[in-house]
Amino acid sequence: MAGCYIHIPFCAQKCSYCDFHFSTNHSYKQEMVDALCSELEMRAKDWKAESFETIYFGGGTPSILTNEQLNQLIQQVKKTYSVSADVEISLECNPDDCSLEQLEGWKKLGVNRLSMGIQSFDEQQLKWMNRSHTASESLNAVLNAKQVGFDELSLDLIYGLPNMSLESWAAQLDQIIALNPEHISAYCLTVEEKTALSSWVKEGKIIVSTIDQQSEQFELLVAKLKTAGFEQYEISNFARNAHYSKHNTSYWKGTNYIGIGPSAHGYNQKERYWNQANNKAYLLEIQKGKLPETIETLSHFDQFNELLLIGLRTKWGVSKEKLFQLIQPNSKWTKIVIDYEEQKMLIQTDEIIVLTQEGRLLADAIAADLFLIANS
Ligand code: SF4
Repeated sequence: MAGCYIHIPFCAQKCSYCDFHFSTNHSYKQEMVDALCSELEMRAKDWKAESFETIYFGGGTPSILTNEQLNQLIQQVKKTYSVSADVEISLECNPDDCSLEQLEGWKKLGVNRLSMGIQSFDEQQLKWMNRSHTASESLNAVLNAKQVGFDELSLDLIYGLPNMSLESWAAQLDQIIALNPEHISAYCLTVEEKTALSSWVKEGKIIVSTIDQQSEQFELLVAKLKTAGFEQYEISNFARNAHYSKHNTSYWKGTNYIGIGPSAHGYNQKERYWNQANNKAYLLEIQKGKLPETIETLSHFDQFNELLLIGLRTKWGVSKEKLFQLIQPNSKWTKIVIDYEEQKMLIQTDEIIVLTQEGRLLADAIAADLFLIANS
């Protein structure tokens, strides 16, 4: 069982907070699609033993592709790899790309899950983020998706924006719940280097929200979505009736995945690779028949820490059996776990370690405390 991630490195415009890899120059989009197909072929020999259960188009903005280009990629995956009959094919899309015609086209190609970047229903916030769509386009996009019959629909929101009041966040949550999606992802705004946001912060034009404000908004998010029948199955991800993202869940459970495209990462338990985050350099290497990748061999310590970091973010927690097959931790480690247990930050059974609601607020810090380092 494995997942296939394909990175589409193009966007209509640059959002003020975004540090993902993409270009706003679309003149060589077809050349890139051909290169992605070549990379799929070049990697095939190493993934012969795997059956792919998910194909995920992320970015960038995958909804910028024409249907012919999207079809070319889907067919290339199916032709080159073993793909299960009920494969989940997810497409990240921006609301301004979601016309009825476009959505019908995606459905015909076999896309069965949409992850829509709504981010906010407030026009001013959307402008501040430099999103390419308006709030009314988002509402239309959701209605169109439902009309076309997309029943696996995930909507993304961002909280922790500067000057975002709790009331405004509550109103956003009410709006998203009223749209009745099966899945919601909500992320806290972070200031990343080399973004417009980071320059504004350095120049003193923006004051970022405080940890207390972010925590308050996170707590409201969890409470409101719980009342509305959503299950928080990962810190930032909520689903109704177990409509989990199969693809992302496989990451969190430590399944192998292949990454295709500039900046994409791949993982196979023992190794991790990442491709060059530069479109032109990526194209040049692929056209020369070379994989534009850097490979890191993962030690047992790396694998132990990776399992902790991702597992603790989920409702399934982290499997002790999987952890201890890699390394038997010392008494110092066991004591840290017991300390967190006494502080009610986590629960441990014979099988798993899982964070409590309080612990989820500090998930990354708790995981970092439990990381094992060679010779420590
Ligand atoms: S659309 Fe997505 S990937 Fe593109 S700039 Fe905006 S946030 Fe980044």
